[in-house]
Formats: sequence, C-alpha cells, structure tokens
Amino acid sequence: MKNRVIIVGGGAAGIVAAIFAARKKAEVSIVEHNDKVGKKILVTGNGRCNLTNERMDSSFFRSDCPSFVSEVLEQFSYTQTKQFFEQLGIVFKSRLGYCYPASGQASAVLDVLHMELEHQNVNVVLGAHVNKIIKNKNFIVEAGSARLEAEKVIITAGSKAAAKQGSDGSGYELLRAFGHRIIPPVPALVQIRCKETFLKQWAGIRVDGKVSVFVKGNFVASDQGELQLTDYGVSGIPVFQISRYAAKALEKRLPVTIQLDFLPDQEIWEVGKFLESRYKMRMDKTLEEGMIGLFPKKLIPILLKQANLSAKSFWKKLSTKEKTQLSWTLKQLTLPVTAVNSFEQAQVCAGGADLSQFNPHTMESKLIKGLYAAGEILDVDGMCGGYNLQWAWSTGAIAGYAAGGEKV
Ligand SMILES: Cc1cc2nc3c(=O)[nH]c(=O)nc-3n(C[C@H](O)[C@H](O)[C@H](O)COP(=O)(O)OP(=O)(O)OC[C@H]3O[C@@H](n4cnc5c(N)ncnc54)[C@H](O)[C@@H]3O)c2cc1C
Repeated sequence: MKNRVIIVGGGAAGIVAAIFAARKKAEVSIVEHNDKVGKKILVTGNGRCNLTNERMDSSFFRSDCPSFVSEVLEQFSYTQTKQFFEQLGIVFKSRLGYCYPASGQASAVLDVLHMELEHQNVNVVLGAHVNKIIKNKNFIVEAGSARLEAEKVIITAGSKAAAKQGSDGSGYELLRAFGHRIIPPVPALVQIRCKETFLKQWAGIRVDGKVSVFVKGNFVASDQGELQLTDYGVSGIPVFQISRYAAKALEKRLPVTIQLDFLPDQEIWEVGKFLESRYKMRMDKTLEEGMIGLFPKKLIPILLKQANLSAKSFWKKLSTKEKTQLSWTLKQLTLPVTAVNSFEQAQVCAGGADLSQFNPHTMESKLIKGLYAAGEILDVDGMCGGYNLQWAWSTGAIAGYAAGGEKV
C-alpha cells in the first residue's frame, strides 16, 4: 500500500508540500476549507506575486530560533525555488532582486501549481474545515462529516493574518492539541497607529524618510523609504518592515514610540548647516515658504508647529536654540504608538508554532512521529520582498519530500 499523506490547508506551503510528497509516489490529499486552493497567492504583491528574492539569507527573517531558518535555507532557497517554478513554466522577472512572474500575474503562479497538482494526481478536498486530528496507529483527520486516514499529516493552515483568504488561526489549535507550543501570534507587515493631534492634517502625505521604533525608550529597529502618513498614524513598506517589533512590544504592554526622520541622508549637524544655507539664500521668505520644494506642502506647517515655531517667522529672527530645535524635529519627530492595525490588514503574523519542537531537516514534529508543519503557521516572519512566500515554498518542499518518502 502507498504511503498516505494528508495536507491540512491548501495555501502556498500546502500546495508545494503536496507536489513534493506526490513526486515521492505518496498518495496525497489536500484538505482545504475554502472553495479553492491558493486564494492568498492571488493577492500577493498587489496581484503580481513577489514570489522570492535574489538576495536570500536568514537575515531577512525574524524568529525566536534564527538558526532553524538558516538550516531550512541551506536545503531549499532561492535557487531551488527558481528551478522549481521554471520547470513548471514560470519565467522570472527581477526588479532590484524582487522576483515576479514575467506575466505580471499572481494567477500564473497559482495556475502552474494547479496544473502540477493535477499532473501528480493530488486529491483536493474543498470546502472541508479540519477541526480535529486524532493519532492512533495512523492519523484520522476530521473535516465536518468527512474522515480521512493517513500515515503522515502536514499542517499548513497558515496564521491569523488576512483571514479573508482562509487563514483563521485554526491550525494553531490543531498543533496545540498535540502538545505544540504556540508563541502568541501578533500582526506583522502592518500599519502602525499613533496618538497625535495633527494626524488628520497630514493624512495622504507620501514622503521619503526613515522610521525607527523604540521600546521603553530604547532603539529596536529602523527602515527607510517612502512613508505614507495617514489619519491614524503611518504606513508604507518601511513601516511594515518594523511593525512586528512594535506589535510584539505592545503585546507585552511595553511603551512604544516611533521616530520619523525626514532627512535621513544627513547627520544632525549637517541639517543645521543645510537649513542655514537654504534660508540665507531666501532671506525674504518665511520659515514656511523657505521649506517649499523640500517637503510636501501639507507637512511643513506641522513640522514647524512641532518645533514650536511660527510658520510666518523668519530664519534670521530665530535663536540658536530654536534653529537646533527645528533640526531635531526634522530628524526625530517622535510619536507615541497606541497599536498596530488588525490581523485582517496584516500581511503576515509574527509568532506561531515554536520551531524548537520541529526538525529543520524534515519539518517533522519532535513530539509526534509522522506529524509535520510548514509555512506561516511556524514562528517565522519574513521581511517584505518575497521572503514569506519563500518560507512557505522552502518549508513546504522539505516537509512534502520528507513525508512523501525519503529525506531531502
Ligand atoms: C495582501 C497580502 C500580500 C502579500 N504579498 C506577499 C508577497 O508579495 N510576497 C511574499 O513573499 N509574501 C506575501 N504575503 C505573505 C504570503 O502570502 C504568506 O506568508 C503565505 O501565503 C503563507 O502561506 P501558507 O501556505 O503558510 O499559508 P496560507 O496561504 O494562509 O494558507 C493556509 C491555507 O489553509 C487553509 N486553512 C486554514 N485553516 C484550515 C482548516 N482548519 N481546515 C482546512 N483548511 C484550512 C486556508 O484556507 C488557506 O488556504 C502577502 C500576504 C498578504 C495577506
């Protein structure tokens, strides 16, 4: 009789796990509660699917167990991913290392995966919510009235992020029932909410800058790029990149602040000199007028007010202290953080199944023989740039290969 493998959740990790297990001649079923598999893949990269990145190592991933990530990437990383998708028909297009299908369509990625599932005769059970898994000699997977039996089970049910695409956090409970520890998941790659009187005023501004997160006054992380200022706080890729640190600290009820640096390429002493020469060339201009062309117009009165300066005042009338104050405001506008946006708006979760209870060479549970997990359900969150899908492809491939037959 064939080795039977049941995969709980047909997302990126589950589909790849199914393909690799089926290629090892296992009899594979995916059990998915949505009416189709791979729904989340379709919304990735704004519908274009940033499926991996040419720059790939463990420094682009966050976890309580970083060495596990390195061990996974040593087995299945960018090169293997490119080879896998090229074999399926995807031509890679790179934008500064960020890889997309040349067609520019996430649907192409799902289409080729779908074709391979069919080619490998994977049994796909749709509209079936797995609520219980029992382990006797074999595993019994219960999904409503359906009961499936297999020697191996791979849990790839995702996290709690973007539940609209099917990941409702129920996978955590399935693992918990087998004694697995779940590090509390929090939203990541998400917007940050702040408390300030001027937020409504700056809503809609897009400006280049650096955002840094501080916990209990201590610097934790920063990122630079286009910031989007909103009526609740801040958004944009650099904000997404650091949001998991804010979310984790808020979960522990620690005080969190962010600092915005609107002139990140200049040191503080350079800013003073820069302002001095800029205003000296525009002696007849008010402080507000003199900043036009440097910052978005809506932002200027806010920055001046935060520096306790009148927009109508002139540079030559400022004291040294006031000039310094303006420089610091441009470099370190500080806002208290109240929250991050919800799981629904988050692209991924930070936290998840504790990696120390899994074997990085097989993704098999160290607690339950024959039980595997892969993808976002695990305690790993990648940065923006194709790293989360890479984690799903890598761990899915390793788990599928191991559960399907011999080791990778
Ligand atoms: C808007 C958005 C854009 C993104 N863009 C990118 C990007 O461009 N690049 C990138 O690398 N990452 C991106 N990500 C993150 C990436 O999509 C995910 O990290 C990745 O898809 C996770 O794959 P997964 O298979 O682990 O989980 P999921 O894709 O969430 O799949 C889990 C599957 O399990 C099913 N399921 C859950 N519970 C059960 C149950 N009890 N019974 C049956 N089925 C169940 C779900 O319906 C789902 O189909 C994005 C995420 C979002 C939300």
